[in-house]
Amino acid sequence: MATLDTLLAKDVKKRRTFAIIAHPDAGKTTLTEKLLLFGGAIQMAGAVKGRKAARHATSDWMEVEQQRGISVTSSVMQFEYDGHVINLLDTPGHEDFSEDTYRVLTAVDAAVMVIDAAKGVEAQTIKLLEVCRLRNTPIITFINKMDREVRDPIDLLSEIEDILKLECVPITWPIGMGKTFRGVFSLTKDHLVRFAPGEDRLSSNQELIEGLDNPRLDELFPMEMGYVRESIELIKGVSNPFDIKKFLAGEQSPVFFGSGVNNFGVKDVLEALVQWAPEPQPRDAGARMVEPTEKPFTGFVFKIQANMDPKHRDRIAFFRVCSGRYTPGMKVRHLREDREMKIPNALTFMANDRVTMMDAVAGDIIGIYNHGQLHIGDTLTEGEKLGFTGIPYFAPELFRSARPKDPFKAKQLHKGLKELGEEGAIQVFENDLGHLFLGAVGFLQFEIVAQRLATEYKVDALYENTDVSTARWLSFPDELTQKQFMDEQASRLARDADGNLVYLATSIYNLQTTQKHWPQVQFHTTREKN
Ligand code: GDP
Repeated sequence: MATLDTLLAKDVKKRRTFAIIAHPDAGKTTLTEKLLLFGGAIQMAGAVKGRKAARHATSDWMEVEQQRGISVTSSVMQFEYDGHVINLLDTPGHEDFSEDTYRVLTAVDAAVMVIDAAKGVEAQTIKLLEVCRLRNTPIITFINKMDREVRDPIDLLSEIEDILKLECVPITWPIGMGKTFRGVFSLTKDHLVRFAPGEDRLSSNQELIEGLDNPRLDELFPMEMGYVRESIELIKGVSNPFDIKKFLAGEQSPVFFGSGVNNFGVKDVLEALVQWAPEPQPRDAGARMVEPTEKPFTGFVFKIQANMDPKHRDRIAFFRVCSGRYTPGMKVRHLREDREMKIPNALTFMANDRVTMMDAVAGDIIGIYNHGQLHIGDTLTEGEKLGFTGIPYFAPELFRSARPKDPFKAKQLHKGLKELGEEGAIQVFENDLGHLFLGAVGFLQFEIVAQRLATEYKVDALYENTDVSTARWLSFPDELTQKQFMDEQASRLARDADGNLVYLATSIYNLQTTQKHWPQVQFHTTREKN
């Protein structure tokens, strides 16, 4: 059996699982396309663009939904590069789906941060980085759009350091910008990669000029080289050396400059991923840490996407493998439901196709056909009682109640909302009377849910305001306190999609009063699924 284990370890070592984080319009979609070009998945281009519409407007989003076959492939993409298997997980760009983004980021081992060089650090960049920081996710920085008139690179680096508190180590340095963008000088390889515009050009045809003192550089850029040499000396002097340990701890970020749309500098990012980004890491599974090279299969669901193929009306649970090896038809333990389940035909997502997954190891994402039995955060193992931690739900700040336009459709509405709640599209709380409250982080979520209720469950829902303004999950020191609290507060209690008790407060004042009155009860703003 020793050979098998070695094989598993070898396969795990080849995996790189990452997401791209960026403020909208910084160039995430473009970079994704170019990365896929290198992986040979050229047909992806259209799919990635289709996905992009998602954040602009609900109508666009719904259109994309109608082409689900496309959008699913772009939410997880697997490709090969330089003997490595790379899993790229897409994150929704719109901030109304920040919860979804958060969950996706729990499933990666590294992130590529794209910064628009004209704009620097933007609002979403800050938020996304905060999320990465919670797990100390290593970050590779790509400063994009150098072919435009942009800000001074030194300025950009200090902004990243000041605002994001992330030490920057430039690995390449830009020569000029906009119309006079000449290329990037690799500080580690000591050569200049000359910039040539063009969308479909592959970096293999790039012109390299060795050495900063090369007279060829003076021939080509006689006016600029003096300044360029000075600034490179300066930057070498002021920046710390790249330290892989600091990078892996999420404290230091290697920085690359380029232009995504011109496929320039993109290969550097891929090389950094392969060379420096971590292979799948051990994961906290509650009872213990799980090593990726352990033989028993384990993992967790971090996302559920519905109706991806209109012809099949299915839902797919995206599952991150944390250890062992997936083989088709394998039997696993569904720990929340405490029963055995079979995974007959998991999917992987390559280029434009869904492909039946034959083999997956730690770091890979498999798509499991799901008819409601899997929820976000669920752990599957080969029997051991584990629960992967780190998939939180946030207390929503926006609430609505819903009723069917046609009163005879109450049952469908109930079913639809329960299922969408389990899927994580929105949070659904049900009180003792069977009344459903919807909680969202962003308004778009309500619209999407209404659309999906109409198309998937054939029920038109009407939203109404509620007196709920915030929610808190509850935990109690003992059963007696719980019972007393439940008796007294019955009218303000509900259960979430997984049956956890929640306090629905009418106002912060109401919440504080109740908290004061019940000091032994704990009120939580997030719930960690395990
Ligand atoms: P996303 O919102 O982060 O996915 O950004 P996109 O990849 O869609 O890019 C936003 C816009 O910036 C698009 O119009 C792109 O064509 C453009 N863009 C992306 N990369 C570059 C670049 O390197 N240079 C220039 N000039 N434009 C770019």
